Amino acid sequence: MTTGYRSSPVRTLLFALVYAAAVYAGRRTAMVADGVSLVWPAAGVGVVWFCANRDAPTRHLDMILLAVILGLGNWLTDTSPAVAVVAAVAGLVQVWLFLWGLRRWRPNLWGAGGTGTLRSPRDLWALFAVTILTCVGTHVVSLVGRGLVTHSFPIAFSVMALARHIASILIIGAAGIYIGAGLNRWRARPPRRRLSFWRTAEIAGIFTLSVAGHVGAFAYEHGLPLSFALLGLTVLVGTRLSTPWVLLHNSVISTIAVQYTLHGTGPFAHIDDVGRRAVIVQLFCILVALVGLALALGRDERTTLLTALAEEKAELDTQKNLLTAVIDSMADGLAVIDSDSRITMRNPAVTELLGGRCSPDDVLAGTDWYGLYRVDGSRYADDELAHLRALAGEDVRGVDMLVRNPGVPEGRILRVTATALPHPDGTSSAVVLFHDVTAERRHRDELTNFAGVVAHDLLNPLASIEGWTAAALDSLDGVPAHPNLDQAHADLARLTRASARMRGLIDGLLAYTTAREATVAPARVDLAEVVADITQARSDSAVAAGKPEPRFTITGLPAVQADPVLVRQLVDNLVGNAVKYTAPGVVPRVAISADTSGGMVTVRIVDNGIGIPEGQHDAIFGNFHRAHTSGGYLGTGLGLAICKRIVERHGGDISAADDPGGGSCFTFSLPAAVTHPHLSSV
Ligand code: ADP
Repeated sequence: MTTGYRSSPVRTLLFALVYAAAVYAGRRTAMVADGVSLVWPAAGVGVVWFCANRDAPTRHLDMILLAVILGLGNWLTDTSPAVAVVAAVAGLVQVWLFLWGLRRWRPNLWGAGGTGTLRSPRDLWALFAVTILTCVGTHVVSLVGRGLVTHSFPIAFSVMALARHIASILIIGAAGIYIGAGLNRWRARPPRRRLSFWRTAEIAGIFTLSVAGHVGAFAYEHGLPLSFALLGLTVLVGTRLSTPWVLLHNSVISTIAVQYTLHGTGPFAHIDDVGRRAVIVQLFCILVALVGLALALGRDERTTLLTALAEEKAELDTQKNLLTAVIDSMADGLAVIDSDSRITMRNPAVTELLGGRCSPDDVLAGTDWYGLYRVDGSRYADDELAHLRALAGEDVRGVDMLVRNPGVPEGRILRVTATALPHPDGTSSAVVLFHDVTAERRHRDELTNFAGVVAHDLLNPLASIEGWTAAALDSLDGVPAHPNLDQAHADLARLTRASARMRGLIDGLLAYTTAREATVAPARVDLAEVVADITQARSDSAVAAGKPEPRFTITGLPAVQADPVLVRQLVDNLVGNAVKYTAPGVVPRVAISADTSGGMVTVRIVDNGIGIPEGQHDAIFGNFHRAHTSGGYLGTGLGLAICKRIVERHGGDISAADDPGGGSCFTFSLPAAVTHPHLSSV
């Protein structure tokens, strides 16, 4: 905290005056006890003064003033000049030690460099520890100093001085920190809430009761053993009144106790020696301050925690409501199912997707109740439902399930994803997501059926066309030259090419339906071998067709766990495209590489071809989509759709991108081989 230049001289002056008054008050008590001060408010005032002016430009003036006031105060009240100097030095040591200790253990507090106030019992204990350290340190200095100048070491004097200094710093210092931090806060945020009538009455009542009780106990010489009740009053104040009231209470009660005791009345008046009496009453004051503050700060800490908890709860409630609103408005069904298959949470979409059904005890076991089947219509085995598989530790992603019950007699296909959700108590639930894919699947199935039927049905007539074309060509052999003969040959050649294109299309359609429907039989497939075979065949056919021979660079291809037939089809399509889609006259260069991570092998096929037109990188994986219709590149637009299907059926991904060196880059992933993977390069 930096203190303003203009306000610090004013503060210096004010504190110096208060300090002088405190020294005077303290020394006045020395009159009744052979020159020994019985209370020492100046200790508390001094530390608060230096806390307030900690970084002020006037702090050197503060030090001089403190030393002068303290020295003069002692000297003028019958102390020798040498002892007065020792007292002045000890006073400076005291404030220095206090500031140092506070800075070290509670740097966030006002006066220690921060702006904070006492907030918890921990702050109080830190302040208490700093106070004790300060006072012990000061009294060592003071004792040694006095010893040097007076050649005597008054231990009893020191114990008394210790008690009065601790009481003073604890009571006045705590109040000073509280007021200093409060003023800081008040400047930033002055308005305060008003107290209710009953609360005001309670504060006034308890405060008055305690003050009256203490006056009653200390002011009169009635001989009644009332001291037991006094701490009870402090407990009442500490538990019911706020910290500022407790601080005020400490000061008032200390003043009452010290004043009356020194004048010979109250519970401690029977102690004959006035010095001992002073020590006991100081200890009483320290106890009152500690008990009151510990209770009040404990409550403050609790209140702060409760407020923080309440704010957190409100925040959590808001988030929960938002989340519930989002989940409830989802078209996808989301349910949490426990280990007994009980649905503990579901959004409205779940009921809707399950045909509006809700089993009496909300248990999702009932294939019979909910009508849950495999997509082929067969019944699930006992532990085969997605949530049970997830609870058994499997990560179930995108499994199709058929729901057919009176609510959805025509059947609905749901894609189910289930993940286990472990609980702190060791049990777990499954979070299940249902996505309606009925329309998608129907469309796909219709297309597949159509493609399959058409392909098969066209093969026969096509075979006839090819057969008859070949027969016609044969019968033209040996026909004598005729002007129409060349034309007939040319027409039949066109017919042959058209039939070949049609066969290509039919083969594509059949491959497409196979890729969709055929059961995947995963086995260990050595990618390096497959790629070597395919690239060799591509090179041979390019040479045979009189085209530039493609150059292949193949690196680090591991084994994969996949269906060998489908993998060959996949690689053949991609390598075929990489060679096919190059500009005329350019030697195709294709680089094939792979890396393995997280149990998946990612293969990259990079070419130096004509590239994929802007914005079509995803579309080319659709059925019959052709991005290059001009330029004489023949094709059906089915190859990449087949590739995508093959990769997806193995749980992988496929994508296309532009290669920075020109050309395209196709990337696909397949599961890595389960046993003994090895890398090989060709
Ligand atoms: P096609 O039988 O037409 O080759 P594909 O499904 O294999 O059908 O490919 C779809 C389209 O994607 C192709 O028509 C072509 O436009 C584009 N394509 C595929 N591979 C490449 C490639 N390596 N470079 C550039 N374009 C490509």
